[in-house]
Amino acid sequence: MEPIKPEIKQRVQELRQLLQQASYAYYVLDSPMMEDAVYDQLYRELQDLENQYPELVTPDSPTQRVGEKPATQFTSVRHNIPLYSLENAFNVDELQAWDQRWRRQAPPQTTADYVCELKIDGNALALTYENGVLTRGATRGDGVMGEDITQNVRTIRSIPLRLNLTGLQNFERVEVRGETFLPLDVFKQINAERQKAGESLFANPRNAAAGTLRQLDSRIVAQRKLDFFAYTLHIPGMDDASIASSQWEALALLQKMGFRVNPNQKLCASLAEVAEYYQHWDTERLNLPYMTDGVVVKINSFKLQEQLGFTQKFPRWAIALKYAAEEAPTRVENIAVNVGRTGALTPLAEMRPVQLAGTTVSRATLHNADRIAQLDIRIGDTVIVRKAGEIIPEVVRVLKELRPPDTEPFVMPSHCPVCSQSVVREMGEAVTRCVNTSCAAILKGAIEHWVSRDALDIRGIGEKLVHQLVDKGLVHSVADLYNLTSEKLYALERMGQKSADKIIDAIAQSKNQPWSRVLYGLGIRHVGNVTAQLLTEKFQSVEQLKTARVSDIEGIYGIGAEIADSIYQWFHISANQTLIQRLQAAGLQFSTTADTTVTDDTENQKLAGKTFVITGTLPTLKRDEAKALIQKAGGKVTESVSKKTDYVVVGEDAGSKLAKAEALGITQLSEAQLLEFL
Ligand code: NAD
Repeated sequence: MEPIKPEIKQRVQELRQLLQQASYAYYVLDSPMMEDAVYDQLYRELQDLENQYPELVTPDSPTQRVGEKPATQFTSVRHNIPLYSLENAFNVDELQAWDQRWRRQAPPQTTADYVCELKIDGNALALTYENGVLTRGATRGDGVMGEDITQNVRTIRSIPLRLNLTGLQNFERVEVRGETFLPLDVFKQINAERQKAGESLFANPRNAAAGTLRQLDSRIVAQRKLDFFAYTLHIPGMDDASIASSQWEALALLQKMGFRVNPNQKLCASLAEVAEYYQHWDTERLNLPYMTDGVVVKINSFKLQEQLGFTQKFPRWAIALKYAAEEAPTRVENIAVNVGRTGALTPLAEMRPVQLAGTTVSRATLHNADRIAQLDIRIGDTVIVRKAGEIIPEVVRVLKELRPPDTEPFVMPSHCPVCSQSVVREMGEAVTRCVNTSCAAILKGAIEHWVSRDALDIRGIGEKLVHQLVDKGLVHSVADLYNLTSEKLYALERMGQKSADKIIDAIAQSKNQPWSRVLYGLGIRHVGNVTAQLLTEKFQSVEQLKTARVSDIEGIYGIGAEIADSIYQWFHISANQTLIQRLQAAGLQFSTTADTTVTDDTENQKLAGKTFVITGTLPTLKRDEAKALIQKAGGKVTESVSKKTDYVVVGEDAGSKLAKAEALGITQLSEAQLLEFL
């Protein structure tokens, strides 16, 4: 057998230590250190490790014990019958697994009914009645020894001091078990009073109830209006079926004897009915005047219960089916830094996968360097992650008690993790940014944004394809999308001819998208689709917008100084001007009175009557794009140089055409000069 890895032994120890501390704070101090759901998850992790490595189990492990040894101010008493805890399940699959487990222990073909009860989030009480009179009330304690709190129990009005035993015989000694709890309104009232008096608040009604039960002054207990639901009873000789042969009958008997029994229990004939009950109460519980933290499912027949018996801690015939937690602990295995389309560096916690609100979560945003520093999250830490509703999971807290030795505070990288260029963090900004516009991460983000539904809505180009296009060097800017061909796409991994054709078609279709979408697609900081719409209503063409002053832009209702400044700056970056020219050349719409042909642009005919020849490779423009731009401005482009040629646009590796132009004394233009011209 392989030796157990030291990190596993260490984790088991860490978990035990923390669970012990938490359990003490919870049961003895009535002041929990963490949410129940968090405790449950850590407990589950320890349980799984102990199942995997049984040699690591120790008798004092929290998994082997029920509750805590009672606090000392009350007399300790030994329970007549031990009080067990309940095994937990957190979803219907785990309920089914429990069902299969007990069935393996039962004779083949055993049929069973299930009693479903609400799991009242309070404190278990063990009540002893002798000849019908309450003689002892005790807390559960560690299940074997509890505290004698009879005086306090007597103040709970729903606990009868004398049983109604009319018509019942041989009931000299009755043990009743049930849950005492604080109704929510009483809980709120107590906390409000404590706040006024400057006292510490109870974390939840269960702790408030536990704290109340341990009050030495019974008059205070009486004022606090604890309530009680009975859920089981034991009578010597109860195997005599004439008293009660099932949980369902026991509940009826308890009621008859004068106890309050929760009215929402249900007898179910199948697991499907149990699941339905569980789902129904998941939402309905919010309308109850007391807290519940799940439902308890019990096999109805006492005979079958007896056959199945108990483990050291739980009855095998019952299970607590709890509700999905929105918070859970997990371990941070790495802190990765993501670069978004705006260049913002976002730290992400990569965590051991954990179930949260019904989904598996393994990554959570850490927002920025300030947030990390504030929480002091380090690789190796156990953290609490939260996922409420649809919100992206986030880390809310670090359990520093579980921090391994030798961890280091996290430092944001000084260089972009994608392009290795220096990053900047401007004064007063929380965000660290990569400012290299040709950074592959920014480019990928820009393309994903360009093709997105609200922008150019180019179907068929997803995240994976964008990565391939950039990584393979096929696309260096969104304008390059318009130079893609079906052949180039088809050569990519896992690309079929049909899909390639469809994508090319979708790219071509995007040329018909209106100017407002094009503007939004450019991804200018702070320009969302609504702002883009506002801008294009006022500036009906890109020419108007790029020559606008900050004050012209700011004048639009709904656009503030920050947005106006961002737009102004964007249009004054030469790489962005080139991008616009390339996109114009590709045929995208840059005005509300849209032109789709390149020749009938009457607004801007600066090159009318001029003849151009293009030679060599231009730095950014493709030859076709340069040609289209010239034509759009009224110019003519020919293939060979002659006396009629007015200009030669010269790129790298220009050959014989340049030589001829020089010989004829024709004016040469670089790409930049051409663009200026335009
Ligand atoms: P439990 O509370 O999960 O379940 C057993 C208890 O359920 C019984 O003792 C009984 O009192 C109660 N119960 C309510 N309605 C019932 C019904 N209809 N039928 C039967 N029983 C019913 O188990 P536990 O052993 O008392 O405590 C473990 C739980 O306590 C954990 O799941 C955790 O949520 C909480 N806990 C939290 C912390 C913390 O730090 N937050 C620490 C220790 C324990």
